[in-house]
Amino acid sequence: MTETKFDALIVGAGFAGLYMLHKLRGMGMSARVLETGSGVGGTWYWNRYPGARCDIGSLEYSYQFSAELQQEWHWSERYAPQPEILDYANHVADRFDLRRDIQFNTRVLSATFNDATNDWTLETSTGDRLTATHCIMATGCLSSANTPDFDGMDSFNGTTYHTGKWPHEGVDFSGLRVGIIGTGSSAIQSIPIIAEQATHLTVFQRTANYAVPAHNGPMDPDIERAIKADYAGFRARNAANRTGTSTVVNMQSALTVSEDDRDQIYEERWEVGGLQFRGAFSDLIFDLDANETAADFVRAKIRASVKDPATAELLSPTNTFGCKRLCVDTDYYATYNRDNVSLVDVSETPVDAITPEGVTVGGERYALDAIVLATGFDAMTGALAKIDIRGAGGTPLTDKWAAGPRTYLGLATAGFPNLFTITGPGSPSVLSNMIPSIEHHVEWIADCVGYMRDNNHATIDPTLESEDAWVEHVNEIANTTLYPTCNSWYLGANVPGKPRVFMPYIGVPPYVEKCAKVANNGYEGFSFS
Ligand code: FAD
Ligand code: NAP
Repeated sequence: MTETKFDALIVGAGFAGLYMLHKLRGMGMSARVLETGSGVGGTWYWNRYPGARCDIGSLEYSYQFSAELQQEWHWSERYAPQPEILDYANHVADRFDLRRDIQFNTRVLSATFNDATNDWTLETSTGDRLTATHCIMATGCLSSANTPDFDGMDSFNGTTYHTGKWPHEGVDFSGLRVGIIGTGSSAIQSIPIIAEQATHLTVFQRTANYAVPAHNGPMDPDIERAIKADYAGFRARNAANRTGTSTVVNMQSALTVSEDDRDQIYEERWEVGGLQFRGAFSDLIFDLDANETAADFVRAKIRASVKDPATAELLSPTNTFGCKRLCVDTDYYATYNRDNVSLVDVSETPVDAITPEGVTVGGERYALDAIVLATGFDAMTGALAKIDIRGAGGTPLTDKWAAGPRTYLGLATAGFPNLFTITGPGSPSVLSNMIPSIEHHVEWIADCVGYMRDNNHATIDPTLESEDAWVEHVNEIANTTLYPTCNSWYLGANVPGKPRVFMPYIGVPPYVEKCAKVANNGYEGFSFS
């Protein structure tokens, strides 16, 4: 490839980057995608740990921009496993002939706005210098692995894995003593499978998490047929829900129904499985007393499932239900009934160090052959912070965001003209079904770029006033809920030193409405040059 000047450069070849490329090409624009990995798929390219799968039903965790694609693709399970989602991403790349404009094995190191020429220059790990009018960050919300800085990390004689950077050839834990640090979604999916292989599995838990059963299984042909008969209607109904998913919230309060009725509603949702449980009552994420009823219900389920009372107690979460991302499991709690699984509490006494032999906690040594770090991600801002992004006047994005990310609509940030973020902080992103949210952003950005072309605008930049007002609004909404009350990655609390700011926007329908209003009013809140 010799061309170095494009209409747009897109960083990342996950679902966001793939669709962005397709969309811009359809408008006759020149674009190139730059991707660190050697293939497409983003999350599903990197997270190949055992048990990895989506926890939003596959029939909705998929693109809708092509009616043919969504009709023709068949998901084999209710929640597709990682290899199938990766196959799907590859299928999309081939079907829409995307690969010829994707440069793999290429990490973007810096992105600099040129004040004189009103364009962006990107420098890459392969030594390329590429220029474009628009720079679109499709770098992912959960793509920058969080690896705690444990003492002695490099001294371990065995092998250390991170769930978010799993070896492509897979890992066979047979005959090994394995330790896993973390009990978030990635750990909860992988623990039951690793436990089946390992001689012994030691789980190091800092915070117990709530998990509801997936009840995964082969795709029900009747459900698939019914949804495909009216896919557009299915999508539209989901888009009208707060999370943009098929979870319909029961508008009753958990506190106004009788205890028996409440338990029955929880039980019904538990039987359906997955994230539907979150919608059992309308006030679960707003009212602590209502929330406590859901927490009690899950804790009772844990006690019923885990035979050893001390282990059950340790596994029972004490924080607000749903405040950290709800996990969806297959046999997670029952796994603790196995003789070869033990749970170590690292909440009060943290991991002291990694040693050549294993892990030490409070002076106690746990001899291990392999360590799995299921320690999550520097979410929402991590991948952006790793790129040296400089806006107008050379201002580094990391300086501007030193006290937390500031955006207008999660799409752009003042002082960084022509820079867009797909599912950036300040948009529903991780509190929604992410593929429709990605599609919404891609289409909004494409429309905006088209508007600029049609109106001869060289740059677009949000005004500071509109950005400040949006940041305030995001916080205002968050503060009406219980979300900011625990140490979640939504707040940046999982990464030492990261500013604690609630990053996603709560509520898909009002957000989509606001974005449409902004565009329809000539991109109000933005300035053009
Ligand atoms: P990503 O898929 O993260 O892709 C970003 C890409 O950018 C990566 O390939 C990365 O290598 C590349 N990149 C980043 N920085 C650079 C750079 N400097 N230079 C070059 N390339 C770069 N969401 C749901 O809605 N439902 C689910 O069930 C669900 N399950 C998930 C399960 C796991 C294990 C994880 C980790 C996340 C899950 N998510 C889920 C969230 C998921 O991240 C999104 O659904 C979606 O896949 C994000 O797509 P994306 O293209 O925005 O980002
Ligand atoms: P996560 O939810 O952030 O969980 C990380 C775990 O590591 C937490 O239990 C955390 O404890 C622990 N941890 C971090 N640092 C630690 C330390 N220094 N010592 C001990 N423990 C430490 O990360 P994740 O499980 O990878 O999931 C991230 C997100 O990706 C999810 O919330 C979800 O949005 C998405 N995801 C979805 C699925 C799915 O089911 N489809 C699967 C995987 C991931 P604390 O809680 O105390 O911080």
